[in-house]
Amino acid sequence: MGLARLGAFERMRMAGMTFFHTYFVRADGAQDESLHFHELVHVIQWRLLGGDKFLAFYAADLERFGYRKSPLERMAFNLQKRFEREAQPFSVEATCQRLVAEGRHRPERGAGRPHEQL
Ligand SMILES: [Zn+2]
Repeated sequence: MGLARLGAFERMRMAGMTFFHTYFVRADGAQDESLHFHELVHVIQWRLLGGDKFLAFYAADLERFGYRKSPLERMAFNLQKRFEREAQPFSVEATCQRLVAEGRHRPERGAGRPHEQL
């Protein structure tokens, strides 16, 4: 990953960031349960893909699609919406596993799918 790609990270004012099995949230988001959920989705993605692939896909897709439309973020935001909307618990890990197995973490298959189909 080149330094130019990291510039996009630096310009973003992110509420949280995940690194392997650890995530960081800004102090003003510390009480936001939904934000914690979102970052935990990234922990699962990181584990499923491995750090090298996660970082390579994340950086390339961030540069190509922007933050909200990159497939790994779309997956996290769509699951976050489901978490906020549904009263029933659901297996986030199994859902992520299925989505990654279907290739939905990649732009060809992941972008634009509505969260209802997760
Ligand atoms: Zn995210």
